[in-house]
Amino acid sequence: MTLQGKVALVTGASSGIGEATAEALAAAGANVVIAARRVDRLAALEEKLAAQGTKVLSVALDVTDEDACRSAVQQTVDQFGGLDVLVNNAGLMLLGKIEGADTTDWTRMINTNVLGLMFMTHAALPHLLAGGGSIVNISSVAGRVARLGSGAYNASKFAVGAFSEALRQEVTARNVRVILIEPGMVATELRTHITDQEAKANAEARAGQMRQLQAPDIAGAVVWAVTQPDHVAINEVLVRPTDQVL
Ligand code: NDP
Repeated sequence: MTLQGKVALVTGASSGIGEATAEALAAAGANVVIAARRVDRLAALEEKLAAQGTKVLSVALDVTDEDACRSAVQQTVDQFGGLDVLVNNAGLMLLGKIEGADTTDWTRMINTNVLGLMFMTHAALPHLLAGGGSIVNISSVAGRVARLGSGAYNASKFAVGAFSEALRQEVTARNVRVILIEPGMVATELRTHITDQEAKANAEARAGQMRQLQAPDIAGAVVWAVTQPDHVAINEVLVRPTDQVL
């Protein structure tokens, strides 16, 4: 129970990596705040965690709404007295070629993957700086390696890497650790939301060619990174399926 008494807020906790991360942080002893738009899914997770003895708060949150981000952080502090770990996980992967793309996909991805993460960081920072803490940003292999058919998603995740490094330089000496997690292919519902049918079929075919990671594999990396001794900052963790070549 290495996170006993700590308070962790996870965005996009209604499914996939966020849900598994909330569970893993709770298992390590943290009080958890679970946030996403699908409140029915949050209610089910809240019930499960509470039954295991975790103090849990669920918050309806659309990270593209800056006021909602501020409110989620404020509700966390009001309920638990502070914030120690922010996991910026909420994200969309609307793959597709650049030529002829539906640019509303681009707007949604940049607003969620980039601006949402920035709004949450901005709202949480005063509380993390007050007592020390960690910000975990869930990027992707797509934040390191660009691929044909992934341009806008690549742009959003490269932005997460750039923002994280600038943030790290700004706050690390003030006891706030910035941790970038870069998963490869994980078996979640992420690719089911792709609107471009050709890109969706390609993504499903790629996934079928490998033993994918499971959400708890990434949750384990998050817990490992945030439970290091205070003087150790794990700044970047790249986790691919063993079978993933590209
Ligand atoms: P899921 O689709 O299962 O989870 C995405 C989560 O983000 C959901 O909980 C969803 O909740 C939430 N979300 C989406 N939009 C918003 C929004 N506007 N406001 C608040 N929450 C939002 O996919 P994953 O678990 O796979 O994805 C989690 C993160 O991991 C993403 O950032 C993704 O880019 C990244 N990642 C995933 C990989 C994979 O292969 N699966 C690989 C590399 C990175 P709700 O709809 O209820 O709001």
